[in-house]
Amino acid sequence: MFTTTPFSIWELNEKLLHGLENIGWEFATQVQKETIPLALSGKDVIGQARTGSGKTAAFGLPTMNACQASGELQALILAPTRELANQVAEELNNIQGEMGLIIQTVYGGTDLEKQARSLQSGVDIIVGTPGRVMDMTERGHIDLGKPDFFVLDEADRMLDMGFFPDIMWIVERMSGRSQTLLFSATFPQEIIDAANEFMNDPDFVLTNTEKLDIPPIEQYSVRVGRANKLWVVGRLLARMSDEDQTIIFTNTKRMVDLLVQRLKKHRFDVEGIHGDLSQNQREKIISKFKNGECKVVIATDVAARGIDVDGITLVINYDVPDDVDNYVHRIGRTGRIGRKGEAWVLVGRDDLPQINKIAATHSLDIIATEAPDLPDGIDRDPVRKQEDNSEAADVFGMVPIKISTTDMSKYSIVELLISSLNCSELAIGDITINDDHSVVEVHNKHASLALRSLNSNKLDASIIEG
Ligand code: ADP
Ligand code: MG
Repeated sequence: MFTTTPFSIWELNEKLLHGLENIGWEFATQVQKETIPLALSGKDVIGQARTGSGKTAAFGLPTMNACQASGELQALILAPTRELANQVAEELNNIQGEMGLIIQTVYGGTDLEKQARSLQSGVDIIVGTPGRVMDMTERGHIDLGKPDFFVLDEADRMLDMGFFPDIMWIVERMSGRSQTLLFSATFPQEIIDAANEFMNDPDFVLTNTEKLDIPPIEQYSVRVGRANKLWVVGRLLARMSDEDQTIIFTNTKRMVDLLVQRLKKHRFDVEGIHGDLSQNQREKIISKFKNGECKVVIATDVAARGIDVDGITLVINYDVPDDVDNYVHRIGRTGRIGRKGEAWVLVGRDDLPQINKIAATHSLDIIATEAPDLPDGIDRDPVRKQEDNSEAADVFGMVPIKISTTDMSKYSIVELLISSLNCSELAIGDITINDDHSVVEVHNKHASLALRSLNSNKLDASIIEG
């Protein structure tokens, strides 16, 4: 990830170089090495590199290098979420050393008038989210004609259908724009096509094609039905040490809330973040997470994009992401800058095609395994395992059970089951008598009991997994 290229080989402002030295940054990362000289030469750049590879500084250094502490707006950087805007602004402040640039965040959910006043007192760089930047522009607090530099972080997200019209609205008003930088971990072709609409013959730098650059993240998948996902989460969390931090991804805001509730019931100390929380709440949680006070966060994709927390050693995909690229962004929350990390994905039967597609698209090595054992010293599952045959059931909830006998008639099998399960005939489905075994379908609700009673009749019954 790090190269042997020192920052000092580029003609960066002395103060910037000094700043880097002060925080102990000596060598550029691969993406920095490849994109910084291009950006310094004035070219438009599209930079793709895996998560945690130092993209913020890759656009931040050339951008700040071109700015002066004049209080005039010279650069506009957009990010998809408020947290990410904050994080980028923090990182820029961290590396700007003594340049004295005023870097101001502009995003919704905070007092607009207060933001407007601080913009009026002078700003060199704005790091914002599109909605609030548009709002402030319409109210006359931001003059989009001014900035020379335009940067999109998490650019694939910024140019997807949700944001694209807003970005174009902003681009159209940036009459002074002379250089544009786009960075992300993934760039689907349609996003590059969209970017070409407003970029000037960009150089495309891709640093994550080589095998070597795959993050040191061990990836595992566990086949498990809905009913026992929480049990697996319990096992995974039980293995964590005090220094470890975990982020759990779900596909919906509602699932974030549900999972927070359920894990709290099982005495796990967890917090959830998603777009429906107030700005204040979100910031509080992120900062508790960053300083290690909070160990486990449950989040949606959007809320967690780009969040850089060093201590994250475990990523759990509670739901398989609907979007193929989101998987890469999710697991990239761990294994930051050379650290080790683990990513687990819980895969239900219906998720199999999607996880296979994800692995194939990004040539990922996701190892299929079982839920981990309980660590030494812990002898009880934090969350109890449920009996669950739903994974083997068909769409009508019928579970096929194989029995060893071939000399019972269909009628006697039905009789046996109905009397021992005390259930209606409807709970028993098709029965097939084969040469060396028979198969009987039993409704999911009764399947476990059916197994037990068949086995107690020495029929050697087992569920046929889907
Ligand atoms: P990305 O945007 O590619 O996911 P970040 O820009 O958030 O990654 O960087 C990840 C971490 O690496 C940050 O904590 C950042 O401060 C650190 N970092 C970036 N570049 C360097 C470097 N050249 N030397 C040391 N640390 C770096
Ligand atoms: Mg980033």
